[in-house]
Amino acid sequence: MTAHTREASIQELERAWMDEAIRVATENVHNGGGPFGALIVKDGEIVATGHNQVTSTLDPTAHGEVNAMRAACQQLDTFSLEGCVLITSCEPCPMCLSSALWARVDRIIFAADRDDAALAGFDDRKFYDLFEKKPESMWPTSIERLDMPNRMAPFDAWLAKSDRIDY
Ligand SMILES: [Zn+2]
Repeated sequence: MTAHTREASIQELERAWMDEAIRVATENVHNGGGPFGALIVKDGEIVATGHNQVTSTLDPTAHGEVNAMRAACQQLDTFSLEGCVLITSCEPCPMCLSSALWARVDRIIFAADRDDAALAGFDDRKFYDLFEKKPESMWPTSIERLDMPNRMAPFDAWLAKSDRIDY
């Protein structure tokens, strides 16, 4: 197999995975969920899928990507998705993007973008704006710091623990 045909077949595979993520997203709409679907792929195989379950589970964090990452971790029996690709029908919101960073996902591939989602009434752009340009004073959620003398106690306990699982 030449480098060129290998490249072409990888692209075909990625398009096939994306077709599946889009199918999962569309099917979820028919089942009463949100129009978002995602897959986790490792070593060329689909490890897990996820669809948006915010309204069905009353969980505002149950986005397709987060659900796919949770399912993949259970499937692979690990908390790290190093070596994995996140395929998602729509550009990840800041929460999913952050979750993918924390999960150590290698790559993220998306189809629809934030502007496409906005056309359907999913305006995550305002959250992107909060992170990308707006000052903290514009945040709808207030974040306050309390000055606590014992604030390092959990970290001290962590550092003193010899059998800790570093992550
Ligand atoms: Zn999300």
